Amino acid sequence: MKVDWLIVGAGFSGCVIAERIATQLGERVLIVESRDHIGGNAYDYFDENGVLVHKYGPHLFHTNSKKVWEYLSGFTEWTPYYHRVLAVVEGKKVPVPFNLNSINALYPTCHSAKLEEHLLNNYSFGDKIPVLKMIEHANQDIRSLGNYIYRNVFLGYTVKQWDLKPEELDSSVTARVPFSFSRDDRYFKDKYQALPKYGYTNMFKRILKHKDIKVLLNTDYKEVFKEIEYKRMVYTGPIDLFFDYKYGALPYRSLTFDFRFHQEGDYQEAGQVNYPNEFDFTRITEYKKITGQCVKGTTIAIEYPEAYKAGVNEPYYPIPKKENTEIYTLYKQEAQQLKGKVIFAGRLAEYKYYNMDQVVARALHLFETEITPSIDKS
Ligand SMILES: Cc1cc2nc3c(=O)[nH]c(=O)nc-3n(C[C@H](O)[C@H](O)[C@H](O)COP(=O)(O)OP(=O)(O)OC[C@H]3O[C@@H](n4cnc5c(N)ncnc54)[C@H](O)[C@@H]3O)c2cc1C
Repeated sequence: MKVDWLIVGAGFSGCVIAERIATQLGERVLIVESRDHIGGNAYDYFDENGVLVHKYGPHLFHTNSKKVWEYLSGFTEWTPYYHRVLAVVEGKKVPVPFNLNSINALYPTCHSAKLEEHLLNNYSFGDKIPVLKMIEHANQDIRSLGNYIYRNVFLGYTVKQWDLKPEELDSSVTARVPFSFSRDDRYFKDKYQALPKYGYTNMFKRILKHKDIKVLLNTDYKEVFKEIEYKRMVYTGPIDLFFDYKYGALPYRSLTFDFRFHQEGDYQEAGQVNYPNEFDFTRITEYKKITGQCVKGTTIAIEYPEAYKAGVNEPYYPIPKKENTEIYTLYKQEAQQLKGKVIFAGRLAEYKYYNMDQVVARALHLFETEITPSIDKS
């Protein structure tokens, strides 16, 4: 088979780059995907009860990028959705990121009023305050609020999620935990927040609908790439696999989802409820609360973090530790030797957690900087 571009992986990275190449450059693309579906980790489908679910965990689209929003809007209409998350703390369900509503739900009224006053004397309403900064604050009440959030909301969740103590992870992970000095319970604050009206998979189908894009499913690229004649490759699979693990395997954290259908109309108060302290799972997602689907009964997914085992489960999250970054850097240097003949893009090829909007922005950027200029020269 003869094509201009071989793209490995039909997730956001592979699909967006394929679409750009076919529609903007008029070149032929073959996407090879090892799974039996397009969409990568954002794939969704209707389960046997007719409920739209996300196979690889809840995917909430949010962005501040007008460019990404407008690009994707060319392939889908949207259902506006503001994600709200509750966490079970001392047996009560309170909003997270922790904010004034969470304090009011957990603390006696006179204490929460006093705390609010201390916060007002030290911060501006609307601030996002890193919890680690609160723990070091001169004011005793602010310090103890910081410690409370750290112990009850962050610590247990982190240990379950990563099977590591916070001090074993990159400091960037702990530095991110915020207290939101507001009554705004929305999990994200981005300008654009919505889900594709007919689902992610439908949107991917439309992205790939072009005569010069062919997709080969159920195929590991290593099985076929020698038989395909192509000029350049875009690789969105794991970078360590590409180089036959010559510097060792990059570690990932994996997840198991226990999907359950309930006949009752509603299962929980919000689309997502976190369990930072009790049980072995981290969170329960109720899908129809997220997608806005009107359907009889409801499907939930109970999420258990677990160790990643190649060939057994999925590599979900790169583990943010210094020694892993060092291994990745060795692979990245190898990739640079290929001088653009292979373009490495996306979360597995760059060993980096990207949100969907970031990965779309990255794909558009790679197209503009590494694909279009080189085509112009030749
Ligand atoms: C549990 C979870 C929840 C998330 N929730 C959100 C969210 O709410 N909001 C948000 O913005 N982002 C979220 N994300 C991030 C989002 O999933 C990623 O940004 C996005 O999937 C990255 O796209 P990608 O194309 O880089 O990678 P992928 O989607 O992983 O696509 C890569 C593709 O390459 C294929 N592949 C790999 N190896 C080979 C091979 N050897 N041969 C052929 N094909 C191969 C894979 O099967 C896969 O389909 C979440 C991620 C996880 C893990």
